[in-house]
Amino acid sequence: MSMSSRTDLAEVDLLELGDLLAGAGAPRFHARQLFQWIHRRGMTDFAAMTDLGRDLRRKLADGFLVSTPAIVRRDQSIDGTAKFLLELGDGNLIESVYIPDTPSNTFCLSTQVGCAMKCAFCLTGRMGIVRNLTAGEIVGQVRVLARELGMRDKRFNIVLMGMGEPLHNYDATMKALRILADEQGLAVSPRRITLSTVGVLPALQRLATEPWMPNLAISLHATTEDQRDMLVPVNRKYGLKDLLDACRRFPLKRRNRITFEYVLLKDVNDTPEDARRLVRLLHGIKAKVNLLPLNEAAGIPFERPSDARVNRFAQVLADHHLTVSVRKSRGRDIRAACGQLITASTRAKAPGQRLAELIHV
Ligand code: SAH
Repeated sequence: MSMSSRTDLAEVDLLELGDLLAGAGAPRFHARQLFQWIHRRGMTDFAAMTDLGRDLRRKLADGFLVSTPAIVRRDQSIDGTAKFLLELGDGNLIESVYIPDTPSNTFCLSTQVGCAMKCAFCLTGRMGIVRNLTAGEIVGQVRVLARELGMRDKRFNIVLMGMGEPLHNYDATMKALRILADEQGLAVSPRRITLSTVGVLPALQRLATEPWMPNLAISLHATTEDQRDMLVPVNRKYGLKDLLDACRRFPLKRRNRITFEYVLLKDVNDTPEDARRLVRLLHGIKAKVNLLPLNEAAGIPFERPSDARVNRFAQVLADHHLTVSVRKSRGRDIRAACGQLITASTRAKAPGQRLAELIHV
């Protein structure tokens, strides 16, 4: 049987796995074992799954596969951050980042190849949207990082802050989170997962109805409609006011808060007046603010404010009893920091050529 006609088990949750086994004439109860092999132990070779019978293993190898993103390159930052350039089955490239000690260890995952949101200060937006990732490709990033970093049995947090807009790829993202949370697999509790979004409103409202949900981070970045229209173009469709209303109504567990991310751009949105406006906007929302001084890059028409300016902005928020943190930029030396992830497709290219063509800005 050819590769393409085999069903990819990387894409399925435990329930679907049972159905597939039953459909192939194998006992449904093996789904648990198989799921544990794939997700908890990171095994993709059916022949090595020794507690499954020989016949079943052969049947699995004939009809199924477990696809895994391939590592094209690993960059190691002096601060411990590691950036993985991964190649998907169709040659597209994505990046995933490991950030140690923040204070926990964090995996930063991509949800799309490229991004359609075109935020004015973000490099990924320059790529445009190539395609959505599948649930299997999102989970696959975790399997690869856990394997490479020897972290299968360790605790880690996950942030959906890599390439792409997770709420623009809702179904695959939520399915991936369900697979990751499964007790038979990596058992990553939703409390350890943060979904970061520009605020695609219909999807945000849908998220509010999910039985369990990840922590929420909103990429706000501006305090007036005009300013946000310019910096985060999706605001022209789903405006600031409606976004904040949705946040106000968002069901939060006790003691949980929404994180508002705010990229600081010199002389654009970094004045004390902006800070005071932000305080007023967040009034009545269980919020904390994460300030992101711009990570500069060639072709990004903004500058990073001085530390003094960042501190002054933070101080205004703190004076008004808002919890505020300044995101320490990690992995800047390997272009792994926020907004610096960008790839070019490798499709049908020779490996040498591929590397040469990766965009370095
Ligand atoms: N699309 C989602 C996930 C990306 S998260 C979202 O926008 O929330 C990455 C975070 O880094 C976002 O808050 C994004 O706005 C921010 N970011 C993008 N470019 C940046 C840059 N050049 N410097 C600092 N932060 C940036």
